[in-house]
Amino acid sequence: MQIIPSITEMQALAISLRTQGKLIGLVPTMGALHEGHLRLIDTARQRADVVIVSIFVNPTQFGPNEDFAKYPRALEADAAACEKRGADIIFAPKKDDIYPPGYSTYVTEERISKGLCGISRPGHFRGVCTVVNLLFNITRPDLAIFGQKDAQQAAIIKKMAADLWLPVQIVVAPTVREADGLAMSSRNQYLSEEQRQDAARIYRALREGKRLVDEGIRSPDRVLAEVTHVLSQSRRIRVIYVTMVDRDSFAPTREIVPGKCLIAVAVWVNDVRLIDNLEV
Ligand code: AMP
Repeated sequence: MQIIPSITEMQALAISLRTQGKLIGLVPTMGALHEGHLRLIDTARQRADVVIVSIFVNPTQFGPNEDFAKYPRALEADAAACEKRGADIIFAPKKDDIYPPGYSTYVTEERISKGLCGISRPGHFRGVCTVVNLLFNITRPDLAIFGQKDAQQAAIIKKMAADLWLPVQIVVAPTVREADGLAMSSRNQYLSEEQRQDAARIYRALREGKRLVDEGIRSPDRVLAEVTHVLSQSRRIRVIYVTMVDRDSFAPTREIVPGKCLIAVAVWVNDVRLIDNLEV
């Protein structure tokens, strides 16, 4: 496995691999890798000849009061995990190489980005779309794997790829969870033991919502009231949003059509922001 920090070297290698007819699979990450990321590598491994994992904590997707500076960085452990999982290349560029002084080009998706995390994290998806375009242009993937854990992000990337005719197939892989249901996240390591217990409530609340839908309830308000109720049982949880949307368009659900909707949740557990979602 190679670790490549240089943009020019990475791009030249990707172009040469494509010329040789190799299928490139890209897994974009911000590092501090956990089993959720590693399953994305497995998916890429199954479908591509060459698996590139990008590790880049992208400053443009963090707000001014967010955790960019303290976001966990663990390149050595990440490299070992990637190698064990069969990745071929880690692309780990420097912040100032990706965004040199005077950098001024950004990409925005303007529909799906408007709601949910787009409201509480203004500019977040502009940063995501911009860096994903940069990563695509540098690593030239045939396919790129994203996690359903960040469902809105995955939907936005799909839309961006379609709107801009990007020559890459976007693959979305299922959310990987801890034994108690908490979605794996690099931010879970910020949680104290008590907060970790509270965080498990997020998935319990989503399951409770799904149970109501499975029982035949078709009013999103009733389902979302129950999800909110379960979350509110913990004093340490503050709800940012609890909503139901069409799983593809992210338009708000008026009446539930089973199999086509997503309950999506963002909460603060003390000062740790966590998101999760469940298809219903
Ligand atoms: P991040 O490093 O948090 O930017 O995530 C990189 C990629 O891993 C994104 O496509 C995420 O959706 C995906 N991912 C993060 N956590 C999980 C998880 N628990 N299950 C599946 N995919 C995940």
